[in-house]
Amino acid sequence: MASRPKDVVLVAGGAGFIGSNLVDRLLERGADVVVLDNLQTGRAENLAHLRGREGFDFVEHDVTEQLPQSLDGRGFTHVFNLACAASPPAYQADPEHTMLTNVLGSRNLLRFAEGQRARYLLASTSEVYGDPEVHPQREDYRGWTSCTGPRACYDEGKRAAETLAFDFDRAGRVDVRVVRIFNTYGPRMDPDDGRVVSNVICQALSGTPVTIYGDGSQTRSFCYVDDLVEGILRLMAYDGPQPGPVNIGNPQELTVSDLVERVLRLTGSTSAVTNRPLPVDDPRRRRPDIGLAGSLLQWSPRVSLEQGLAATIPYFAGQLGDARPAFDFGGGQAQPLPLAAAE
Ligand code: NAD
Ligand code: UDP
Repeated sequence: MASRPKDVVLVAGGAGFIGSNLVDRLLERGADVVVLDNLQTGRAENLAHLRGREGFDFVEHDVTEQLPQSLDGRGFTHVFNLACAASPPAYQADPEHTMLTNVLGSRNLLRFAEGQRARYLLASTSEVYGDPEVHPQREDYRGWTSCTGPRACYDEGKRAAETLAFDFDRAGRVDVRVVRIFNTYGPRMDPDDGRVVSNVICQALSGTPVTIYGDGSQTRSFCYVDDLVEGILRLMAYDGPQPGPVNIGNPQELTVSDLVERVLRLTGSTSAVTNRPLPVDDPRRRRPDIGLAGSLLQWSPRVSLEQGLAATIPYFAGQLGDARPAFDFGGGQAQPLPLAAAE
């Protein structure tokens, strides 16, 4: 009986929060994995447990530069492009680099995938919808973004990255998949990256004031990372005709104030709540329509917000180390959640 050829996978951005979770799942499934990452926002510790493991390799490299020749000849079957800082303070710190990562980096990775005859998946974002006038957001909504504001390097960068991907696909050069990821959280988030889930949990755990930007009435819909990774893997494996971009996210929508309330309750924290100015162009609401992911990939999220936060809080408690307050979550290790099988 002929055995299935081995998947050989390049994960650009694989040292980051989502990328490192994805790498674990790919290795579990028997793929060989090479991570390409400049460690700008990713962390070596996210991959430390894989050092020396057969079938795993790490290459430090910025995707805006020509890809290293050492990658040629490995016969890659799949290229995941997750390379891009994702937290607003991180992607706004060097907006020129963020834009170039999305444009030049995408082009370098698409050309590489073309040379390898590999399928390519772009990690796009709900930010392509900007501050949406349509709610919830379906893939055929074209968005309401600013091309001049402080978020534009990311929002417009990702829109350009999608354009390039679909141009390569239309020309028959690369078989592409584009996932539009909605706010995702879970273990391996950088405690200092400035996103609301990491900020609020770390503030609650250390007893410092919890920061709400604006009046807290803006909404987001938070997806647990294991659910997201499952959706990404299913989309990459999807063999039908080009499906266009596919939303992956958890449609349970809540206000930022509601999120804060839940975190304070789950941590038992007595942190005060403090309001800070709302960042420019901060979207007022965001919720995915996941009908397409359901019909195309038979995917829907399985982890509730309560379950996901219960797995994420101990991870951050472990990260806080000595600064850890008087809350005990049993060793600081996140408990693994049952995962849906991909097939
Ligand atoms: P992250 O910042 O933890 O990971 C991004 C990774 O890309 C990091 O390891 C970083 O070092 C690397 N990187 C950045 N620029 C690079 C470059 N020029 N060359 C090589 N490596 C580079 O963020 P994340 O949350 O894991 O996000 C991963 C991907 O998913 C990103 O593309 C992001 O836009 C997308 N996404 C994430 C979310 C979310 O809620 N986390 C939402 C929508 C989209
Ligand atoms: N936010 C907040 N307090 C924080 C960090 C963020 O209230 O400490 C708000 C932010 O203004 C936004 C929401 O939480 O309205 C989600 O922010 P995040 O940076 O996590 O994601 P994004 O804005 O990219 O959706």
